[in-house]
Amino acid sequence: MLYRKMPKNGDELSILGFGCMRLPVKEDGSIDEERATKQVRYAIDHGVNYVDTAWPYHGGQSELFLGRALADGYRRKVKLATKLPTWLLKSRKDMDHFMNAQLERLNTDHIDYYLVHALLGELWDNVETLGIADFLDGAKADGRITNAGFSFHGAGKDFNRIVDAYDWDFCQIQYNFLDEKNQAGTDGLEYAASKGLGVVIMEPLRGGNLTSPVPPAVKDIWDEATTKRTPAEWALRWVWNHPEVTVILSGMNEETHIEENLTVADNAYPNSLTKAELQLVKKVERKYRELMKVGCTGCRYCMPCPSGVNIPFCFEDYNNLYMSGDAEGAKFHYAVRLSGVLSVGEPEFASRCVQCGECLEKCPQHIDIPTILESVVEELEGPDLEKRVAMAKQVFKKT
Ligand code: SF4
Ligand code: SF4
Repeated sequence: MLYRKMPKNGDELSILGFGCMRLPVKEDGSIDEERATKQVRYAIDHGVNYVDTAWPYHGGQSELFLGRALADGYRRKVKLATKLPTWLLKSRKDMDHFMNAQLERLNTDHIDYYLVHALLGELWDNVETLGIADFLDGAKADGRITNAGFSFHGAGKDFNRIVDAYDWDFCQIQYNFLDEKNQAGTDGLEYAASKGLGVVIMEPLRGGNLTSPVPPAVKDIWDEATTKRTPAEWALRWVWNHPEVTVILSGMNEETHIEENLTVADNAYPNSLTKAELQLVKKVERKYRELMKVGCTGCRYCMPCPSGVNIPFCFEDYNNLYMSGDAEGAKFHYAVRLSGVLSVGEPEFASRCVQCGECLEKCPQHIDIPTILESVVEELEGPDLEKRVAMAKQVFKKT
């Protein structure tokens, strides 16, 4: 296992962290606790020292599970990360309420890395008004947390202002070779690192889209490589190749994935991919973009839509539907993200489009936005949308 230094405090963190959002589950959907505990402890025994969870994961069960899985001396072997559920906050007092409940759930007296969860620009404005800076300062001072950070899912334009708005120790961003220009992107990664923040990466495999199933045309390109690697290894190595990256979180729920990731983390040094290898990844990226249904780059020039449609998110989920082949997963993701469950805002579904055409001339990719939104409605909404939204609320509004 390789380790990289957290810039502000010098912590040596394993470059592979264990993410507890997608733990193995039983037939009834509950966490397979025996198997998951073995997996977490196996990873720790093999060098992983950063474990990440959050309030809503597994309907609130992930933190409770981890509290038990890290017994028997495992808690002191790791830096523990969890997140404040920003979308549930109504007051400054709520922040203490959630953190204190999390300490109890996790069976610990402190959280090493505490994140303000899933920030978007407007969500940040809300928590800032509610007094997040005072809350984090207080929690650090009284020892309930050691480091303060935030995780980000918003538009690139909001990332830098959030980085600059507080004396953060670290941040967590989505990053992979298809998201260089999406959300925080490469610019955000470099900006955060330039400000001395450690950067934890989530979704290095884009929620599994870069690994299963790999379209034949993409497989053909990977097969051209002189050094043979699996698509997962290529994707992870590409992220670790960036010296600004501190830790990659991987939601590993198969023993074989854990083995593979641990092996790659033994020698994934920064700047270790050759020029030819980087060109190969670029070629794969181009192929994926050809295969995508919509050539949306996530630039957001079309936003805001006067009817409240989140155009780039609609298109991202629509592309994921075609890249992953996992219709149920893509539909649930769409329901969670566009329903407003995770934000203080209104629903942003494609079905809110009134075909006014205002966005058309703003798109540098010349995408026929209103027409494609009709297909999004057809394929990602349908009669079950309300049921999925209700399910998402059940999962994410749990207190
Ligand atoms: S055409 Fe639809 S998506 Fe575009 S601005 Fe009008 S309502 Fe919004
Ligand atoms: S302007 Fe075009 S490319 Fe940019 S986010 Fe909107 S639809 Fe996507």
